[in-house]
Amino acid sequence: MEIKNMNNLPRSCQKVAEYSDKQQYAEAGFWEKLRIQIHILHCRHCHAYHIKNEELTRLLQNHQLKFLSKSEKEEIKARLSL
Ligand SMILES: [Zn+2]
Repeated sequence: MEIKNMNNLPRSCQKVAEYSDKQQYAEAGFWEKLRIQIHILHCRHCHAYHIKNEELTRLLQNHQLKFLSKSEKEEIKARLSL
């Protein structure tokens, strides 16, 4: 998927991806969250990326994988081809 090359993304998309990746989203302010949500709804790239991330988050929560090591989590990420 072309989204893999972050440098090709518009600046605004990179910011949204950053939030998604680093799970900073929960710490973002109300307007920031709203801005991200609206962007995701309208942006094909970010929408696809966001869905992938949601899948991963759900998977991690469902299986309580938070006790896994960093390398094990990386392996799961790789399998989901994020
Ligand atoms: Zn975008």
